[in-house]
Amino acid sequence: MKEYELIVVGSGAGMNVVAKARDKGLKVALVENWVMGGTCLNRGCIPSKILTYPAEMIRQIKHAKEIGINAKIESVDFDLVRKRMWELVLRDRRGMEEGVAADTGLDFYHTTARFIAPYTLQVGPEQIKAPKIVLAIGVRTYIPDIPGLRETGFETSESIFDIQVLPKSLIILGGGYKACEFGHFFSAFGTNISIIGHNPRLLPREEEEVSDLVLAKMTEFANVKLNQEVISIRKGEKGKVVVIRDRTTGDVKELEADEILLTTGVQSNSDSIEPEASGIRTDAARYIAVDDHLETNMPGIFAIGDVIGRTMFRHTANYHAQLVWINAFAKNKVKLDEHAVPHAVFGYPEVASVGLTQSAAKAQGIKVLVGLSQYIDCAKGYAMGEQDSFAKVVVDMASYRIIGASAVGTNASIMVQAMVYLMNAGDQTYIPIARSQTIHPALSEVFVNAFGNLHDPDHVHVHEHEQQ
Ligand SMILES: Cc1cc2nc3c(=O)[nH]c(=O)nc-3n(C[C@H](O)[C@H](O)[C@H](O)COP(=O)(O)OP(=O)(O)OC[C@H]3O[C@@H](n4cnc5c(N)ncnc54)[C@H](O)[C@@H]3O)c2cc1C
Repeated sequence: MKEYELIVVGSGAGMNVVAKARDKGLKVALVENWVMGGTCLNRGCIPSKILTYPAEMIRQIKHAKEIGINAKIESVDFDLVRKRMWELVLRDRRGMEEGVAADTGLDFYHTTARFIAPYTLQVGPEQIKAPKIVLAIGVRTYIPDIPGLRETGFETSESIFDIQVLPKSLIILGGGYKACEFGHFFSAFGTNISIIGHNPRLLPREEEEVSDLVLAKMTEFANVKLNQEVISIRKGEKGKVVVIRDRTTGDVKELEADEILLTTGVQSNSDSIEPEASGIRTDAARYIAVDDHLETNMPGIFAIGDVIGRTMFRHTANYHAQLVWINAFAKNKVKLDEHAVPHAVFGYPEVASVGLTQSAAKAQGIKVLVGLSQYIDCAKGYAMGEQDSFAKVVVDMASYRIIGASAVGTNASIMVQAMVYLMNAGDQTYIPIARSQTIHPALSEVFVNAFGNLHDPDHVHVHEHEQQ
């Protein structure tokens, strides 16, 4: 049995903890059963954004006509896009592999880790033990039990980046961010796209106005069907057939396409590590249960990232890694703070948000002020011809604390990030915006205007003539 000061399982955000521990000279074991770098690098954020950026350029070129440029796209080069994507992914992966191989204080086990006793893991033929263990083992695509799905075959986010040729048509099952991002990319590159969502809304966790605008825009380049049940899937004459039923009307329809992409949800990877053998508790969906310090019920064993089943983003996993490093080795522990978790959807239009939506705040009984502003109402937004894009803010009525912010349109992710910083600064109010000069004319003015438009949504002033 080999003993370490720290064992980390999973080389995604887990690598952040490994790096800190090695900086301090701890004796560390890293276990990874797949390629180095985890989902973000190999099958997630990074390759998907190398796809969505050229797609955004295509949309911009098409939109340019509205502001006085008549441009034509001669052709698109998917081979080059693929090449650029794999160049970066493989370069970063290789860099990590070399770093790990060169580090003599770090033992790397390229295999599946499985608990056999408290604080003890089986790794291939060997057994390893440590008083501190960090589980950063992520999630994988959940394969729903749809009759005919497995027999017919399908792609997932784990397999789609390997395709060599663009499908002529693609049915995307799911209505979340992956459906929007892949739908954006494939449709921009000429694939005929259908998006089949179960929820009545696209991006159901966003503000309703945001979902509505994304739906309206996506409908311009994809056949979007929401509130649908997938009844069965089979091989058709030309491709793959998906049979759907409208959950309201009961209407049954068949769609056929070259390929199906499943984006309907994820499941925890905790099954592979057999946490029960170490006495580690999981929740009903098998996500690893942790306390406010990201510690499991077994002292010294922590879990971070997607496998705790909360907000599944790489920046969240990075934040968890930072916290766990402190909580595992420093004197004073730090509590998890989830009040300002941001995210973006790099579809078309781009969406970003942080904190609570208006309806989520209402459900928590918080009295709020809301403010909304269109891009077009500031000079830069007008110059860009961003007709429908907007930002929305949700502010606590009593304290003026910002409790939520969203934007939908160009650079939404950059604009919302400013709100994230404010939500983590001082008294977390929007007052610093009122005190600041805002570069003019820039898109930052959209959020300034949104705060300027704050009002009580439950007391909308109705003019006399509107009441008649
Ligand atoms: C298509 C797509 C696009 C995305 N885009 C974004 C984005 O734009 N922005 C964003 O923030 N997030 C995005 N995400 C989500 C992001 O990738 C994840 O939140 C993040 O990678 C999670 O990191 P992690 O360290 O928790 O898990 P992972 O990175 O998944 O790492 C877990 C690792 O553990 C390994 N493992 C599992 N079990 C064992 C075991 N028993 N023994 C050994 N090894 C094991 C796995 O093989 C894996 O390599 C995207 C995800 C996908 C799929």
